Amino acid sequence: MSELHEILDTPTPEKTAFIMSFLSRIYEHFRSTGSVRTDIPDMYEVLLRAAIPGFALRKPEEHPRYYRYSPEEEIREPALNGHDLALIFQHCRELGLEECINQMIGRILEEIDTMDMKDFPTSILPLLEDLLSDIKKGEVNAERFKRLFQTGLAKYIVTYVSDEPKQLKWSRELTKCNGDYRGYFPGYGATKLKAGTCQDCRQMNVFLQSPTETVWRFPAAEARRKHLINKLSDKHECFTTIEKPHTPFSLVVTKHKRSMDEKHRKWKARVSEVKGHLQSLEGRHRILDNVLHERYADIMAVRVKNLRVEAGQAVEGSNDRSEHTQAGPSQVAGQKRKAAVVDLTDD
Ligand SMILES: [Zn+2]
Repeated sequence: MSELHEILDTPTPEKTAFIMSFLSRIYEHFRSTGSVRTDIPDMYEVLLRAAIPGFALRKPEEHPRYYRYSPEEEIREPALNGHDLALIFQHCRELGLEECINQMIGRILEEIDTMDMKDFPTSILPLLEDLLSDIKKGEVNAERFKRLFQTGLAKYIVTYVSDEPKQLKWSRELTKCNGDYRGYFPGYGATKLKAGTCQDCRQMNVFLQSPTETVWRFPAAEARRKHLINKLSDKHECFTTIEKPHTPFSLVVTKHKRSMDEKHRKWKARVSEVKGHLQSLEGRHRILDNVLHERYADIMAVRVKNLRVEAGQAVEGSNDRSEHTQAGPSQVAGQKRKAAVVDLTDD
């Protein structure tokens, strides 16, 4: 038996998905055939208790799909199916293993902190959905699952949606010509420090650094204009044009906020995605407010800031935290979400 504990002890999402799927289906099978004898519940309890400490959910992919060159799909083990968890909760109630339910809620809430939030609709929402229907039927007490609903959904919203990205100021990074510029001099073999600083870059840096200036004109001969254009890269988020009514022509540098607009578009898409999930959770039962209580309004309206404390995250300033979100371009990329089906009903 200690071997079993050793195997299950090391948390891996695959083992968790396997054992939860196995337990939920095997018990359903024995129950449906009416052969739940004393030794079956005992075995169930031993297996479940051994599995709880190592309960783990899938973590975000280290190298998301869009970074990969390989055209072949990497096969990921399926995420844990939330309906399996709901069945296990039912079995625990039936077998009087109330304490196991509490332990599992604790582990689920811990794992939500580090899980791949793209799995939330597969692994957690179905559990909440099934619990709501059991609450509606009067089979379980809503109060008991209040924390799972409140904290679980708050964590999901705060981590997955994250704060609204905002263009706070127009300041941009400086160009790298001042002082630290190292030119390559053929014949010397190595780079050596180029003496002095470039006046033109200094002028442009004043503009780049400015939190308010968005357009800058620089009348100069072609070589000097080209030097500045070469110093600007994507990270400066500027576009350049040449104004030709007078000589010397002017270089016009304009700051744009395309990347911020793009971040904002993605953020809005995440908000409506989450709202959609919450509305379908509310769905036919209309009893979500019985479990969410004082958090109901903030959760349903996806108010990230108001949910930070509930989610166990420190309240931060209005920094742009959108970099920290787990959502990425692969958000809708086809994931292998089919849970393994063990069909025990056929003979
Ligand atoms: Zn320069």
